[in-house]
Amino acid sequence: MLKKSRKKAIKSFWGLEAGSLLTRYMNAEGKAGRTARAEIRLDKPKGTRLPLRVWDSEDEARLTVLPLVAEEPERESSLKATPETRIRDAMGPLITAVEKLDVTALEIDFLGSPTQLTQVALGLEIALYRFRRVIGREEPKFSVTIKAKGKPVAAKSLHDGIALGWSINVARHLTNLPPNLLNPKTYAEFAEGFLAGRKGLKVEVWDVKRLKAEKMNLHVGVGRGSNRQPRLVRIKYTGAAKNPAVALVGKGITFDTGGLDIKPSSGMRLMKKDMGGSAAVLGAALWASETGAKCNLDALLALAENSISGKSFRPSDVIRARNGMTVEIHNTDAEGRLVLADALDVAVSAKPKYVIDVATLTGAIKVALGPGLAGLFGNSRPLVNALHKSGQQAGDLNWPMPLVQKYKGMLNSNFADMINATDGFGGAVTAALFLEKFVGEVPWAHLDIYAWKDAPDGAWCEAGGSGQAVACLAEWLRTV
Ligand SMILES: [Zn+2]
Repeated sequence: MLKKSRKKAIKSFWGLEAGSLLTRYMNAEGKAGRTARAEIRLDKPKGTRLPLRVWDSEDEARLTVLPLVAEEPERESSLKATPETRIRDAMGPLITAVEKLDVTALEIDFLGSPTQLTQVALGLEIALYRFRRVIGREEPKFSVTIKAKGKPVAAKSLHDGIALGWSINVARHLTNLPPNLLNPKTYAEFAEGFLAGRKGLKVEVWDVKRLKAEKMNLHVGVGRGSNRQPRLVRIKYTGAAKNPAVALVGKGITFDTGGLDIKPSSGMRLMKKDMGGSAAVLGAALWASETGAKCNLDALLALAENSISGKSFRPSDVIRARNGMTVEIHNTDAEGRLVLADALDVAVSAKPKYVIDVATLTGAIKVALGPGLAGLFGNSRPLVNALHKSGQQAGDLNWPMPLVQKYKGMLNSNFADMINATDGFGGAVTAALFLEKFVGEVPWAHLDIYAWKDAPDGAWCEAGGSGQAVACLAEWLRTV
């Protein structure tokens, strides 16, 4: 029997129980009223323009001509948006335009290839998401019909696009949830209730007692200042018979005050998103299950709230990590790498083929690369290259960064094996170097993400949680 509180959390799923938004719009009953029609095609021969037009069904008068989705003149070929990404991103302006019209139906005719049709579904799924609509369980205001060259397309043949879009939306929604609703306990309950029983998935939750028994003192230390105790969620996905698992580890700080090294208010304002890495990992596991991906996953969500109280861990504390190394706390705001360190050790103990962590780890990477590119670090050139390529193909970009071994000296401590953070320059690199100490010889990569859109962008019609890294991981997992 589930506990009452858990039942309640599972029952509501914060509006996510309804599943794919696009499927709901496609299944919505046609009501009397006007129909908007959009025709989507990539112009030949250049493939550089994507005109969208919306017509009114009654008088066939053209109502709106949407701006073309221009090809960005990037110098780096691996930053260029593929035609597929541009189709995905055109769905944002389309939905925004249609929502301004008084219509009860949207009919889309797509004139591109079947692969590109997947991008239409993906883009629509992402574009239809609004936080308050999901929370409020709003019914669709119009129905959506998708045609390919004039012939209607069923939702099930759009499954790949819908599954990825939905997985991204779940990650976005978790990131958008306020921290008084989403804490390590409710998050773990959600993960268990939402994922367990889906195809290929098994979920295990480690409470603080188990974390202590596992000697995960860094993880426990970070969560100590909060009344809401830390958790580790372990999601196992089995989609292949023998392959060794790919381990995914996500940073899940449900709110980061900075701890005793408290953040200024401007820096704390968005810190509900400090669990964005774990949301991406959960999204990737959901995607694997929904698409029956031919891989095995060992996905770990390291959940804690970095809070302030008499019990908080302190600068100068020396804490022994699960792998036996001692860490002197230099700054309590460098907590993400601490929970990741212990979770990475759990992951590599199971001897995975690869381990990839995803984390909103440093402000320094945002200073270097801006909000649109994740920093990509790793100890394996082929893995880094593959993830870089997958990021571009999925329109979920990252940029390879150097693991400057010489900087390891900056982590030296007279009182422990290392300190957890450095002052001054190179903060994203030294954070990655800290993590590297916990992965042993396993091929490892680290995505330092932002997890947020400051403004609507492409298919993302609403600012907020972005589901960054879900699409990149999904694209890469197809290849392992
Ligand atoms: Zn922090």
